[in-house]
This record gives sequence, structure tokens and C-alpha cells, in this order.
Amino acid sequence: MEPGSVDDFRYVGARRRLIEAIRASGIDDLEILRHFDQVPRHLFIPEGMLHRAYDDAPVPIGFGQTASQPSLQAFYLHLLRPNPEDRILEVGTGSGFLTALLALMGDRVYSVERIRGLSSRARKVLDAMGFQNVALMTGDGTIGWRKFAPYQVITVAAASPEVPHALVDQLAEGGRLLIPVGEREVQDLLLIRRREGEILQESVREGCTFVPLLGRYGWDEDGG
Ligand code: SAM
Repeated sequence: MEPGSVDDFRYVGARRRLIEAIRASGIDDLEILRHFDQVPRHLFIPEGMLHRAYDDAPVPIGFGQTASQPSLQAFYLHLLRPNPEDRILEVGTGSGFLTALLALMGDRVYSVERIRGLSSRARKVLDAMGFQNVALMTGDGTIGWRKFAPYQVITVAAASPEVPHALVDQLAEGGRLLIPVGEREVQDLLLIRRREGEILQESVREGCTFVPLLGRYGWDEDGG
């Protein structure tokens, strides 16, 4: 089944408006915009929140988590630029919506989510849409997924007090890692690259607020 074949055409107008909002946020890469048109976001959003599925805003998905703001996800894709041959690690599957976009752009996506209920819901939607290049795991993504490393792209959708060294270790030569790093309330989005063995780091957006990355190399579960 192709993405889109399980679409509901009631949402076509809302999706067009979302794509305009993403374009207005500064992302005019046609390939990225096309993927937002191809993947029906409402399939990834729980029933009670469907009226907000195409808002350009974070949307609650249960378990105290949110699906990220679509224009921010477009910014992620713009910075990470996944290529068709890229192996991708995603930390924080959440709804699975970004997982689907990454799967359309890269070769294979390995996505780790610490909350089993979210991972299994994302799996059902991605399976129903016919994605065959996605592997999901429930666990602590701060330690990466060593079995399939190295990755050309690593994307983290939750904020960490520091860059987990395990993720940097799993970055391929030429690879890109995007992760929000900072205090509990506010973070900088860091783009980290491995170039000729060197690790280069730059801040690409300041003053972001993400849900916490909880785990061995993130925040403690108790908030410490
Ligand atoms: N891209 C997702 C979406 O749009 O639905 C974003 C989901 S949300 C902003 C971040 C996710 O990271 C949450 O689902 C949370 O449970 C997950 N998370 C937090 N710490 C994690 C960890 N150590 N390993 C894996 N997932 C983690």
C-alpha cells in the first residue's frame, strides 16, 4: 500500500494550509513539502486530537508526549537532508509521523521510543501504510541502536542536558546529528557533523523547548 492510499479526503484542504504554513516558516524545498502532502498526518494523531492534526503546532499524543510542530520537523529535514542511500536513526518515535517522512527520504529508518504504547501505535500506522524500510524498538535511545550503526543521519526529538556520546560514536563519516541541548525549560538546537574524523558542532536555533530526553545519557526519570 502506498502512503496516501489510506487517506481521508476531508483533510486535503487542511493539509494544503499546513504546507503553506511550512512554506511561510522559510522552508521552500519542494521535495520536503511534497512529502508533507504525501503523508496523511491525521493517521498518526489520536482520535480526540484529530481536529488539531493539521495545525502547525505540537499536538498531544497521549502518555504526556506531543507530536512535534510540523514546521519544526520540516526544519529538521531541511538541515539533515536525508539522501536515498542514508541509514537513519531516530530517537523519540512519538507519533511516527516524522518516521514516515524520513522513510520516504532515506534508505532505512531505525527508530527508538521509550514508551511502548507510542511505539506500538506508530508501528500499526506505519505497517498499515505499507512502509517496509522502518524498524522500531522500544528502549532508551540515548544509547543509540548500535547493531545497525553507523548512521548518516541521527535525529533526536527530545531535549538532553548534553550530547549523548553514544550517538556521536554511531555517526558515520559525513553524518549529521540534530539534537536539542540545554536546560530543562529551554534549549539550543545543535547540528553535529563528522567530517574527516573531526566532530563539528553548531547551534542552528536558540530558545527551543522540547520534551525531555529521559535515559542513561539524558535526564534522569526523576527530573535530575
Ligand atoms: N517526532 C515525534 C512526533 O512528531 O511524534 C516527536 C515525539 S516527542 C516530541 C519526543 C519523544 O521522545 C516522546 O515520544 C518521548 O517519549 C521520546 N523519548 C524521550 N526520551 C527518550 C529516550 N531516551 N529514548 C527514546 N525515546 C525517548
